[in-house]
Amino acid sequence: MSEMNVNSISTTEAPRQGVGSDRHARRRFTLQPVPTAPAFPVVIDEAPWLPPVFDEQRVASAVREILAAIGEDPYRDGLKDTPARVARAYREIFAGMRQDAGEHLGRVFEHEGEELVTVRDIQFYSVCEHHLLPFFGRVHVAYLPGSGKVVGLSKVARTVEVFARRPQIQERLTAQIADAIADHLGAHGVSVVVEAEHLCMKMRGARSGQSSMTTFAHRGACAQDVHVRQEALAALGRFGSYGTAAGAP
Ligand SMILES: [Zn+2]
Repeated sequence: MSEMNVNSISTTEAPRQGVGSDRHARRRFTLQPVPTAPAFPVVIDEAPWLPPVFDEQRVASAVREILAAIGEDPYRDGLKDTPARVARAYREIFAGMRQDAGEHLGRVFEHEGEELVTVRDIQFYSVCEHHLLPFFGRVHVAYLPGSGKVVGLSKVARTVEVFARRPQIQERLTAQIADAIADHLGAHGVSVVVEAEHLCMKMRGARSGQSSMTTFAHRGACAQDVHVRQEALAALGRFGSYGTAAGAP
């Protein structure tokens, strides 16, 4: 049985080596082996939180492998530096995996009164975890400060960046921003609206042109009280480019 297999392999292999051997020889290249994964440093639920390791070399060899797999020659002039370049870009694009939102939202200042605070049109760029293609747009945040604690505008923007710079889906991005503001700021209520365009929808599949997606997350009073939620959404919609929000979920 095993002898028969060996024979059948050698007979099918033989003609393949003869046909178009020049073309295949030119395209043959040696890929560097992907190094084995380092042991993850901590159990994720245990304190203290340690950031996951970014392995630039491993990203580069994986990109080289993708180029080879789509039929490209990763060693041709235009592509030979691409794996290292993509790896450096990924370090930046996925930097949020090694950052903690609490760091930014921990720097609060005292503020009298508990009126609604809104931050609109925070631009973000993220990567959809289903296709590893960009999705991008704007985040709008409204919150009711708890015990007079508020943060600067830049801290909210930094928090958005921490969660955007990861493999993401828009719904989770929206929820994580809302949770972070509720938890670290002790806000009485939080509403987050995210409007985004997805390149995975535009470049492939349905190619749904100008369509964009809007997601909502409500916490605390904004989740429990429809009037508070309506007030928050109306405040976000009133001046921002985000449309009439009062009737939205
Ligand atoms: Zn996608």
